[in-house]
Amino acid sequence: MPKSSEPLALRSRRVLADGVISPKTVFVENGRIAAIAPYEVEIPVGTQVEDLGSLVLMAGLTDVHVHVNEPGRTDWEGFATATRAASAGGVTTLIDMPLNSTPVTTTASAFEAKLLAAQGSLAIDVGFWGGVVPEHLEELPGLLASGVLGLKAFLVHSGIEDFPNVTAADLEKALPLLAPTGLPLLVHCELDTSGRPPVEGIPNPRSYRQYLASRPGSWELDAIALVLDLCRRTGARVHIVHLSCAQALPMLREAKAEGLPVTVETCPHYLVLSAEGIPDGDTRFKCAPPIREDQNRQALWEALADGTIDFIATDHSPCPPELKRLEVGDFTKAWGGIASIQFLLPLVWTEAQKRGFGLADLERWLCTKPAAFAGLGATKGRLAVGYQADLVAWDPEASFSITAETIVYRHKVSPYENQSWQGSVHSTWLSGQKVWSSGRPSGPFMGEALIRTTQAFDTVDQTQAREALKRCCASERWIDAVLARRPFGDFHALSAAATEAWQGLTLEDTLQAFSGHAKIGGGHRTNREQAGLAGATETTLDKLKKANEAYAAKFGFSFLVFATGKTAEEMLKLLEIRLARTKEEEWVEASIQHHKITLFRLAQIERTLK
Ligand SMILES: [Zn+2]
Repeated sequence: MPKSSEPLALRSRRVLADGVISPKTVFVENGRIAAIAPYEVEIPVGTQVEDLGSLVLMAGLTDVHVHVNEPGRTDWEGFATATRAASAGGVTTLIDMPLNSTPVTTTASAFEAKLLAAQGSLAIDVGFWGGVVPEHLEELPGLLASGVLGLKAFLVHSGIEDFPNVTAADLEKALPLLAPTGLPLLVHCELDTSGRPPVEGIPNPRSYRQYLASRPGSWELDAIALVLDLCRRTGARVHIVHLSCAQALPMLREAKAEGLPVTVETCPHYLVLSAEGIPDGDTRFKCAPPIREDQNRQALWEALADGTIDFIATDHSPCPPELKRLEVGDFTKAWGGIASIQFLLPLVWTEAQKRGFGLADLERWLCTKPAAFAGLGATKGRLAVGYQADLVAWDPEASFSITAETIVYRHKVSPYENQSWQGSVHSTWLSGQKVWSSGRPSGPFMGEALIRTTQAFDTVDQTQAREALKRCCASERWIDAVLARRPFGDFHALSAAATEAWQGLTLEDTLQAFSGHAKIGGGHRTNREQAGLAGATETTLDKLKKANEAYAAKFGFSFLVFATGKTAEEMLKLLEIRLARTKEEEWVEASIQHHKITLFRLAQIERTLK
């Protein structure tokens, strides 16, 4: 983390910390909040002071749903403009979606490409969601071990060719991979079970009513029911992104009461806008799921109040203006997405304060809860001692108008244009450094890529760390080589060390590693990674056992396969194919499978130590 060079004291008559507003002086040192003192406290010599008067000083916002679109679609947005716009709105942390970049973030190497693209272009801190697509399920162990904060999937077509939707069967395979890591699956919940042709079929493509009817609330209800069922069966954390349909709320309330690990977000556009006010042909309002009727909007606010909806995220989804097809106003062909990261705070505040909500509600919905959801709750999302000094000073009473001139993100298109909004951001600090001030960016790009940390693994003693690594791979030499590189800081460094150590092993070490695995089938019903065997017939198990014996006899080591999420039949099929190969081919394949298993177990390491 870049550190602020000299100690800083920020004074305000309205410091908002953990729901309480009071006059305070906030001391910042080395990028963190060092102390929160009474307003009148004496300032030590050498401390820079800034008196913010009665501006509200609170924790910077975290937006967990942002499409930055870089690399590959930087003409749609990009890290530099997205993060600058975020800083202009008091957002100090954003989490990037695995689409619509090219490549989409569905493999470890694509994640690598994204990290490279982000380097030197971040005005604020940025974390990353990985993506689940049907053809890359086998890549998930490596992706999870590389440091993404969770995974995202679609149940309808995403609009991007290389990010197709998953089916329930795909999620049956993906969730057992995710559950042991404790990371969430974020799901775009729309599911079309009608068998009707998609949206192109509406009679008048300029009609908002018809567009709305083409993506009915029942799509959301069916999708959410499916996701809750999977959550119940796998124990994996699930998160409903951009909830639009309020009819889903009773189902979500029940799921939460039942204790399912489910969280829910909604977006400013569902809270601020309603279908009744959207003119035909005005595709600036197109998003999916669509903005619904006013009555629906009221219910979403009630769900925010009672906590059924956990927090608010923007789903900032920009595109070049021509893709919005504003001239023709065709809702079926326009890109669906609304860019709003810069205006998250005023949009929500304008509506919230009319409804009697206060600043403490805002802090919960925009700072504390989203940061905690992304796994950043120990360092971000609160104005508290020891926390990162990510702060925003803003005026809740001031109003302003959104115009092309005030928009900082790349394309100056907004459904909120030329209207008055309440709540104006004055200054934003990242780790105690001012990154936005009085309408202008301040300082260099100093944001960091937030890769999942290995803090627990880094801080346990050597014996515990060794034990944890033993569960990942049985090679003593591999364990020594990885241990020697502790502490790692994050999963990206840990998985790189694990891979290098694996590549440096001798033949004997490799055999030792192979021998650490339980045989597939033949009485290993209690092995969680082989849970797919549970539904197998005796005949299949018997075939597996015999094929295993034949395999070991032919190659001199046991059959190794990444088993998590696979059925017994799938394992048997793979075993039969591989039994026909040469020893050289199988040595390579076993090594690949072994390392995949190792990375998958590494991705769980933090959780086993907590
Ligand atoms: Zn989105």
